Amino acid sequence: MRGLLIVVSGASGTGKGTVCKKTLDAMPEVAYSISATTRAPRPGEVDGREYYFISRDEFKAWIADGKFLEYAEVYGNFYGTPLNKIEERLNRGEDILLEIDVQGALNVKRKMPEGVYIFLLPPSLDELKRRIEGRGTETPESLNRRLANAVAEIKIGLEYDYVVVNDSVDDAAAQIKTIIAAERCKVERNRDKFNLEGAF
Ligand code: ADP
Ligand code: 5GP
Repeated sequence: MRGLLIVVSGASGTGKGTVCKKTLDAMPEVAYSISATTRAPRPGEVDGREYYFISRDEFKAWIADGKFLEYAEVYGNFYGTPLNKIEERLNRGEDILLEIDVQGALNVKRKMPEGVYIFLLPPSLDELKRRIEGRGTETPESLNRRLANAVAEIKIGLEYDYVVVNDSVDDAAAQIKTIIAAERCKVERNRDKFNLEGAF
């Protein structure tokens, strides 16, 4: 059986990173796709673990060499999903999780509609604001820009397959795990199991 491509997306500050980490800690068999980015590492982030931190020139070279499944400019920095290993892993039957922004997710959906597209929602816009403020990574100006974008991005959530409200991290991660478990049981993904020829 081919592996699942799981895409988790949503507005910045909703808690994608936090919830995905929790989900992956509980599902070590699911691989995480490490993106490349031109933004600087935040304290505690390690090159090759959270992201591949590369320069703008390197990023341009990766685009020219066709190394990305998708890429997008998000708040002034570039982010991209490296193509290498994704097809290989899916063909080996391994599940892969991508945590990417809304533009990137729509681009992947066009190329790989068989993926599982999960939209993470904040409990409210007020709570989203509190979370972005609490993370302490934004200036007041960039906070307002993110909130205005969030409203537009949330509308795009209607194009996804599933929606999960990130009220509690544990509940949201449990819901994503349940979605993955259900997707693995879909008949269309398990057609090989119905081939009983030669069984008797
Ligand atoms: P994103 O990856 O979507 O930009 P983060 O995972 O960085 O979001 O989370 C943004 C902030 O919100 C972080 O400070 C994080 O600790 C906090 N956070 C995430 N999920 C929750 C939650 N369910 N309840 C309260 N705070 C949360
Ligand atoms: P951050 O800088 O907070 O880690 O991420 C900013 C935004 O970029 C988040 O919405 C995150 O999901 C998104 N992002 C991370 N990696 C990728 C990627 O490879 N492609 C796209 N399109 N977005 C990404």
